[in-house]
Amino acid sequence: MFNKILIANRGEIALRILRAAKELGIQTVAVHSTADQDAMHVRLADESVCIGPPPAAKSYLNIPEILAACEITGAEAVHPGYGFLSENARFAEILEAHNVTFIGPKAEHIRIMGDKIAAKKAVSKLGIPVVPGSKGSITDDDDVDAIAAEIGYPILIKAASGGGGRGMKLAETPADLHNAISTARAEASSAFGDGTVYMEKYLAKPRHIEFQILGDGQGNAIHLGERDCSLQRRNQKVWEEAPSPALNDEQRNRMGNIVAKAMADLGYSGVGTIEFLYENGEFYFIEMNTRLQVEHPVTEAITGIDLVHEQIRIAAGGKLDLKQEDVEFHGHAIECRINAEDPKTFAPSPGVITYYHPPGGLGTRVDSGVYQGYMVPPHYDSLIGKLIVHGRSRVECMMRLRRALGEFVVDGIKTTIPLFEELVDNPDIANGMYDIHWLEKHLDL
Ligand code: ADP
Repeated sequence: MFNKILIANRGEIALRILRAAKELGIQTVAVHSTADQDAMHVRLADESVCIGPPPAAKSYLNIPEILAACEITGAEAVHPGYGFLSENARFAEILEAHNVTFIGPKAEHIRIMGDKIAAKKAVSKLGIPVVPGSKGSITDDDDVDAIAAEIGYPILIKAASGGGGRGMKLAETPADLHNAISTARAEASSAFGDGTVYMEKYLAKPRHIEFQILGDGQGNAIHLGERDCSLQRRNQKVWEEAPSPALNDEQRNRMGNIVAKAMADLGYSGVGTIEFLYENGEFYFIEMNTRLQVEHPVTEAITGIDLVHEQIRIAAGGKLDLKQEDVEFHGHAIECRINAEDPKTFAPSPGVITYYHPPGGLGTRVDSGVYQGYMVPPHYDSLIGKLIVHGRSRVECMMRLRRALGEFVVDGIKTTIPLFEELVDNPDIANGMYDIHWLEKHLDL
């Protein structure tokens, strides 16, 4: 096991990782920008190193500074959290070249899954169902009209290097196709520096259902069930729950076993998430995230398994000591992402938190790095915390969520808490009747 790890992240996830490390008896090093010197994880870490000014490009994405911090402190491993350098294969390789362990999968797996076309090909070979589409990228030599006709309209044009829902264009009919392709190419070039695009069948009313997997890179992998993350705004998840209100045990076990076997065959190491669109009883792979997810606590709530402990143990060379039959699902969990944003316009709302009172009680978890007097800096993502509630049933979970939201006080800035108070009372949400477009439609009303 490691003696000391460095946490290359900030905010709630840095604190989450710090807690797991402390529980395992591992010393922690926080790295932070000048904007984060008063952050809770910096205060609680055994050591901290300032790695640069507020812009992420000069601090949290600054590989030489992070490497220097490892050397100064003698950290043996780096946990990248999510975002920032967590899916940067080059970062993983540079660390390994300096004898520092990257707490995550092998660089080759990060690289394959970071390229959407390569990822689709790779998982399809491993037996995972994918969205029907072009065989690979589309070039000027391809007869795009013929390919599109074969897939069937509407067609979605997607960027190979895409992320955050950008670079996607819809062609409803053959007349839209060429225009959609050229717009998608242009957007992808300017956003990602790579104009490679591909075609996919557009699914009209899918749910977003993702499977959590855990592998040890030594031929063992298990699944920890699914999360339903269909409630999204601009492709950003807002509310996540486990299990999905749309799946039964048979569907869960069938797809769970397919993804677990695929990851065992791939030799995947660490935690990962296989994301699907789910429509009319069918799963369609869209992408794999090769890191810890924001919404991992809902899986922890229903399985009782600490995903960060597992990540650290596996990165230290440990074998997976859990078997599929050891994984039991208990009750229901929901996570609400609390953002420092106006709940109606979603405009960012940085500033000082003048009063802070998080909810507590049975089945109530708040993952957040904020406190009374904390200044939410304007430089980063607006997520300031996550409320995760667990109940024996979905009904009990919703009752608990309503109660916990009522207790939650964050003064001085605006937050998205009022949005969740509205959602928890909505009949469609109560019935679990929503798809990936539900929230945007609801917000327009
Ligand atoms: P990104 O990496 O940009 O987030 P994804 O491939 O994960 O891209 O897709 C993001 C979102 O776009 C999905 O959650 C879904 O809402 C929508 N989407 C992607 N592919 C399709 C498709 N084939 N049909 C319908 N919606 C899609």
